[in-house]
Amino acid sequence: MRSLLAVLPYFGRYWGRMVLGIAFIILSGTFTVYTPQVVREAFNLIGDGLRQRELPVDQRHLEVSERLQSWTAWTGLDLQARLDGPLDDATLEAKVLWFAIFYAGLFLVFTLMGGFFLFLTRQTIIVVSRHIEYDLKNAVYTHYQRLDRAFYKRHSTGDLMNRISEDVSKVRQFLGPAVMYITNLVVLTIMIVWVMLGVNVELTLWSLAPLPLLSVAIYMVSETINQRSMATQRQQSRLSSMAQESFSGIRVIKAYAREGEVIKRFRQTAKDYRKTSLAQAKVDSLFMPSIMLLVGLSTVLVIFVGGILLIKGNDGITVGNLAEFTLYVNKLTWPFASLGMITSQVQQAAVSMERINEFLDTKPGITSQGDLLPEIHGSITFRNVGFTYPETGIEALKNVSFHVPVGGTLAIVGHTGSGKSTVADLICRLYDPTEGEILLDGVPLPQVSLDKLHEQLGVVPQDVFLFSDTIANNIAFSLPPGPDVQGSVEDAARLAQVHQDILSFPKGYETLLGERGVTLSGGQKQRVSIARAVVRKPRILLFDDPLSAVDTATEEAILTGLRRLMQGRTTVLISHRISAVQHADHILVLGHGRVIEEGTHQQLLDLGGQYASLHAEQLLEAADQG
Ligand code: ADP
Ligand code: MG
Repeated sequence: MRSLLAVLPYFGRYWGRMVLGIAFIILSGTFTVYTPQVVREAFNLIGDGLRQRELPVDQRHLEVSERLQSWTAWTGLDLQARLDGPLDDATLEAKVLWFAIFYAGLFLVFTLMGGFFLFLTRQTIIVVSRHIEYDLKNAVYTHYQRLDRAFYKRHSTGDLMNRISEDVSKVRQFLGPAVMYITNLVVLTIMIVWVMLGVNVELTLWSLAPLPLLSVAIYMVSETINQRSMATQRQQSRLSSMAQESFSGIRVIKAYAREGEVIKRFRQTAKDYRKTSLAQAKVDSLFMPSIMLLVGLSTVLVIFVGGILLIKGNDGITVGNLAEFTLYVNKLTWPFASLGMITSQVQQAAVSMERINEFLDTKPGITSQGDLLPEIHGSITFRNVGFTYPETGIEALKNVSFHVPVGGTLAIVGHTGSGKSTVADLICRLYDPTEGEILLDGVPLPQVSLDKLHEQLGVVPQDVFLFSDTIANNIAFSLPPGPDVQGSVEDAARLAQVHQDILSFPKGYETLLGERGVTLSGGQKQRVSIARAVVRKPRILLFDDPLSAVDTATEEAILTGLRRLMQGRTTVLISHRISAVQHADHILVLGHGRVIEEGTHQQLLDLGGQYASLHAEQLLEAADQG
């Protein structure tokens, strides 16, 4: 339960509306308590009127009750005048009828007022809960964006999505209705019980007795409903993720002609879903009947106990009181039922809030510990860097040292799994090294502002990711909006040799990518990704095998194009292809996380080691293809 305290600060911003909402609840409650009293007065007046008929005409006397006078003082009507005067049978009946209609009108007015304030209550409190939901979602999302890669490795996308959508909305469901119903329950109970006690203590106790039972019963039914509905939801998400996967993998399914199998599996899962949702429907339908049963019980008690008291006649109980009590009990039903429902809801909200807090309390592992480098020039130094992946314990880098001067080009080659991408991730500070240190312009990387670092870093990651957006927006991703965005985008695209490809699409740079847009070829994607990296002309360029999906000729064109841009900028070029790296100032050959050879292209060839044999291999391949 304590976890829910975390939402209190969010309430702070809306306390004015909350106070207003509670005021509306009290107003609505006041009118709600009036209506049964109107019925009581009406019953009493009619009963009284009928009794008067048995008296001689000159002894007949009807009187406006104090209650009615207090309600209607503001109308200026002199109601007593309507009752005075000689009361022969016809006049008596006419007057009683007039008052009955008057009471009916009053009943209507009070009911409408109660409803009106209830409407205002919902408009304030439920609206506040929607605002808080919005704030909470933003807080969670903002926090997500700050968390490091290791966090994303630990948690599945589904989990992240759930906490920001389902859990937040569970908390919202608690916030609005729970606050509203609980306040309503307290206000109404105090008001109604107060009035009831004023009438008769014994009858009050009898009529209230079944209500706690009602709360407990509803609580139990709600618990079962919640459990079943969670089971249904789980089944539902299983069904939809299964469907989703089959749509994404439709090419494979069709290629292997497994449609029948997939349909069979879908049918089975859908059948399970039907089973759980039918089980849920069964308890759902218990909900109203169990309320009705207990309300019926209360009503029976009121009439039975009240009837006995009325017959005994020594408690000042009137027929009007019985009618009044029946209505009170009815009015208390929903608040007491909601108490049971809310207790169960609050428990769920607490669990959800705990899950949200767990993420909100996660501190990002990667933060700027200082801002010691006012301007980045771009020399990069690795000093005995070692790195072990925290989740898998795989030691990806061992004792790696190198230095790239400002404007220099370092190339890294090596087999798959040798640790090349890990070097790139460490430079981007997606992770911090577990051993040794990395310096940027001589300053330890953690002491460099993360924002500045990423501003001066143009990265082409190994797995290209493009957003479902236009090509222009994908390239301009890191650019602040400005007048010449389109010009910069086109320049970058030309550098990356993708300008012509883009122009060949009917919508050019405005072509949509992604699910419902155009699918680019692997090579085109890589080139768009290169354009995105160079568009801001950063001080450091970091390419992780950016040309794996383009042919050697295009590769040559791209590298020639980039060479101009690379002048004066520090470049780290990772590739599995020798042809791409041969012009670099310095080349590292990685093997199993260690630097096994290093030097210039010529030095490495002369060495006759792994680089030389890789070179020979790739020359042969090229000759084969040629
Ligand atoms: P390369 O880019 O040269 O192919 P990587 O740097 O991607 O090599 O991988 C080096 C080693 O680290 C491999 O053994 C790989 O399995 C492991 N590895 C890479 N990324 C992760 C990760 N996110 N979590 C755990 N292990 C990883
Ligand atoms: Mg890699």
